[in-house]
Amino acid sequence: MGSKRIMTSSSNTTKKRIIFCDFDGTITVNDNIVAIIRHFNPPGWEAIANKVIGQEISIRDGVGQMFRLLPSLMQKEVVEFGITNAKIREGFADLLAYCKEADIEFYVTSGGIEFFVYPILEPFGIPQDHIYCNGSDFSGEQIEITWPHPCDGHCTNDCGMCKTTIMRRFPANEYERILIGDSVTDFEGAKLADTVFSRSILTEKCRELGLPHFEFQDFHDIIKQLKLA
Ligand SMILES: [Mg+2]
Ligand SMILES: [Zn+2]
Repeated sequence: MGSKRIMTSSSNTTKKRIIFCDFDGTITVNDNIVAIIRHFNPPGWEAIANKVIGQEISIRDGVGQMFRLLPSLMQKEVVEFGITNAKIREGFADLLAYCKEADIEFYVTSGGIEFFVYPILEPFGIPQDHIYCNGSDFSGEQIEITWPHPCDGHCTNDCGMCKTTIMRRFPANEYERILIGDSVTDFEGAKLADTVFSRSILTEKCRELGLPHFEFQDFHDIIKQLKLA
């Protein structure tokens, strides 16, 4: 393909398309954090999860609290379960191929944790500096999640891995910012994005806020829509 720039449908200016794609429940069929916690089932996790969904506590606080319920001695089992349990959503490799062909930048912006995000994405050849997620520390008694990509001064949401902070590095006058996501970690980014592809709770949130969005089941739906616009 000769053309490096893509016309956006909304204006006459040429903007470069950039995708910010969630991981848990988006690239993977299920939410890996929820699956891990549910599998090991430490007492008290459900109340914490419900507070995160209900936005009573921040995502960072909630995820940190849930993993602190698990002893670091379980590292091997937790990591192994996180990796082997995940299933990739249909069409993901095709979306990556389409992005290459159409010169769309592709970033993974994940509220997940590096010990499962990196190994699961390994076969897809995404450069590591295009993957943003949280870290982990197994050196104490309990598992401690670490947060190398916190909110900048523009975000007061205490995201943990702050998607809007990453998105702001790609100015709106130069980029058509496209967000793909499913849940509570995508709410703030969806408000900032030019285009939102949503499923699940993110769809409900977009309806509630009156944000335009395209619902998707798998990545083929997204490729189809990207080709149209
Ligand atoms: Mg998600
Ligand atoms: Zn934030």
